[in-house]
Amino acid sequence: TDGAVYALETRDLSREFGGFFAVNGVNFRLARNSMHAVIGPNGAGKTTLFNLLTKFLPPSAGMILHDGQDVTRLSMPAMAKRSVVRSFQISAVFAGLTVRENIELALLREHGLAWNLLGRIAHHRRVLERADALLERFGLTDYAGTMAGSLSYGRKRVLELATTLALEPSVLLLDEPMAGLGHEDIGRVTQLIREAGKGRTVLLVEHNMNVVAELADTITVMVRGEVLAQGSYAEVSSRADVMAAYTGQAHE
Ligand code: ADP
Repeated sequence: TDGAVYALETRDLSREFGGFFAVNGVNFRLARNSMHAVIGPNGAGKTTLFNLLTKFLPPSAGMILHDGQDVTRLSMPAMAKRSVVRSFQISAVFAGLTVRENIELALLREHGLAWNLLGRIAHHRRVLERADALLERFGLTDYAGTMAGSLSYGRKRVLELATTLALEPSVLLLDEPMAGLGHEDIGRVTQLIREAGKGRTVLLVEHNMNVVAELADTITVMVRGEVLAQGSYAEVSSRADVMAAYTGQAHE
């Protein structure tokens, strides 16, 4: 290796399901402060790689490093303590709480509980101020008092992103952030992710190629559990083997 330290790195990472390798000896590197997308045809192993990196699944073999340290055996909460956070799915948005309450809850989770009364009051004020700022930043101010359960699908995704960013992660892992979103929401969420990427590392698995082309500075193309190519959008999209993988033709 070249001695560089990555936000996340895998070494010969594999995950097997009953003899089938969904991820097969992957050496993946997520550079610090990059906006990195993993793409590939259906069944390529993108979700499995994502689930390995986020500790949703244990690997069958290989190693995962965060900032150069072996984190292969750490749990998801342990990774969150290291400021590596994955977007939660919509189920993590509390339908029976308002938008503001959801954000406040996320902020309380970030800070933990303050011990003394004065500390608690100061902390409470900070939470309220930061909730206002997050509502504003995510265009949710008008929906602050709305029950999260009655938001549109797109706004739920925006709220979910807001609660994830309330944790101020240094590494943000997003699983298909545009899935199920309409054109307008895609534009909004793309902008939010671009802003969220300032000063942090973002990895996304995403099917929408326009979004990938617009957002990602680095793209990893997976095919059949392996990394086929990595580079800028221009680099990977000009490769014949990448195109062939997408059109289902045989490739070398
Ligand atoms: P992608 O996200 O690129 O579409 P996945 O990582 O979801 O790919 O899946 C890669 C391959 O691994 C697929 O062939 C899929 O059927 C298989 N696979 C994924 N998860 C499981 C599982 N839990 N059990 C068995 N096979 C699985």
